Amino acid sequence: MVKVAVFGGGWAGCAAAIEARKAGADVELVERTDMLLGTGLVGGIMRNNGRFTVAEELKAMGANELIDLIDNNSLHKNIDFPGHEHSSLYNVAIIESEVRDLVHKMGIKTIFQMRGKEVRLKDNKVTEVLLDDGSKMKADAFIDATGSAGPIENCTKHGNGCVMCIYRCPTFGGRISISEKAGVKESQGKKEDGSTGAMSGSCKLIKESLAKDIQDRLKNAGVCIVPVPKDLQKKDALELKVCQQYAHKEYQENIILLDCGNSKMMTAYYPLSVLRNIPGFEKARFADPISAGIGNSMRLMSSVPRDNTMQVQNIDNLYCAGEKAGFLVGHTEAICTGTLAGYNAVKKVKGEKPLEISRNLAIGEGIAFNLEQMQTEEGLQNRYTFSGTILFERIKELDLYTTDIGDIKARVEENGLTNIYK
Ligand SMILES: Cc1cc2nc3c(=O)[nH]c(=O)nc-3n(C[C@H](O)[C@H](O)[C@H](O)COP(=O)(O)OP(=O)(O)OC[C@H]3O[C@@H](n4cnc5c(N)ncnc54)[C@H](O)[C@@H]3O)c2cc1C
Repeated sequence: MVKVAVFGGGWAGCAAAIEARKAGADVELVERTDMLLGTGLVGGIMRNNGRFTVAEELKAMGANELIDLIDNNSLHKNIDFPGHEHSSLYNVAIIESEVRDLVHKMGIKTIFQMRGKEVRLKDNKVTEVLLDDGSKMKADAFIDATGSAGPIENCTKHGNGCVMCIYRCPTFGGRISISEKAGVKESQGKKEDGSTGAMSGSCKLIKESLAKDIQDRLKNAGVCIVPVPKDLQKKDALELKVCQQYAHKEYQENIILLDCGNSKMMTAYYPLSVLRNIPGFEKARFADPISAGIGNSMRLMSSVPRDNTMQVQNIDNLYCAGEKAGFLVGHTEAICTGTLAGYNAVKKVKGEKPLEISRNLAIGEGIAFNLEQMQTEEGLQNRYTFSGTILFERIKELDLYTTDIGDIKARVEENGLTNIYK
């Protein structure tokens, strides 16, 4: 039986593990912390803009498990907020245990509180990865889904220090890139001013710390938009963010809250003393990062060169997915690249031709366009998401964005990809 080892249990790693398992592999998933989903533990927004098309393409291709699970655990569906249409919001409070159950039911072995930390290679192939406890993980193929956030040294050097985010580096140790340990040269994202990295673009407030009418509006509509008096607006709110898709002026002039279980505030951070002067936020408290009055986690610190099958350049049996695979930001982006990586890792070991998804589909165009852009200097300043910025513009231009599920199924069928992932 083919054996696949996946490093990183975020959305990308979970999707990769699930698809490799469906393709018949014996799969072990190694995760640094005590929970799956990584940054997905504090996210929640799905199906906004082009992510809707991608979610339905995945379903038509037979990779429906995670999309269905997320849909079934969404608190709000088909909601709009500035620049974003037909979004759904999953419940961050319960999603992890649901995904963990699914992964275990599928027979995927999980190893928590463990990092891959050294890589052994022979003839352009990874032979084994050494784990934190000194044991060795051997496999036929390896998937690097270790993300791009932190560790603390990066948050200190390029951000406002450790702000105690969901990554919890002081507890579990920092992120370690498998590809980098295999000798692959990685790239780092740049901000507009040329400095390194990007700050995560949203934080969470404890719902009960907000005024009752804000709580009610969030519960009923999923969204609550509170205008901010001019003198209390955060001037740097837009430049810093990873999430360029939310860098509209509405996000500076208002506090935009979304109900993802916690109340998600669509700005990187907000000084608590300023926030508490805004009506309705007099008792506000942050849930994530715990120090979101000071800053947020730094991301896009580690991207690996790859091809369109998700194979890491020059290493025959190492695949990559998610943020690691080219500043592809978002849960949907992690799931579609993870699924492809898991599928192709098994194909490659079996000696079959790995899949490149046609550019007639939003997923295929996204993966290929991202790769082209990452090879340019200015491409390192962009973030790639189906929900906004240049990638969403691109799929709109090419007429690949649609919310017509019938059309999406037909397009997948025309490209011979219906149920390819089943
Ligand atoms: C605050 C915040 C809010 C967000 N909100 C949204 C949202 O609403 N909607 C959306 O679509 N996107 C959102 N995003 C972006 C989205 O969460 C990510 O782009 C996506 O989930 C990345 O998934 P990933 O699996 O590639 O990486 P990650 O989620 O970073 O997962 C990587 C995993 O690898 C583990 N790991 C690291 N090194 C090792 C190692 N050596 N061995 C084993 N494990 C290791 C880490 O512990 C982690 O669990 C948000 C991000 C943040 C930070």
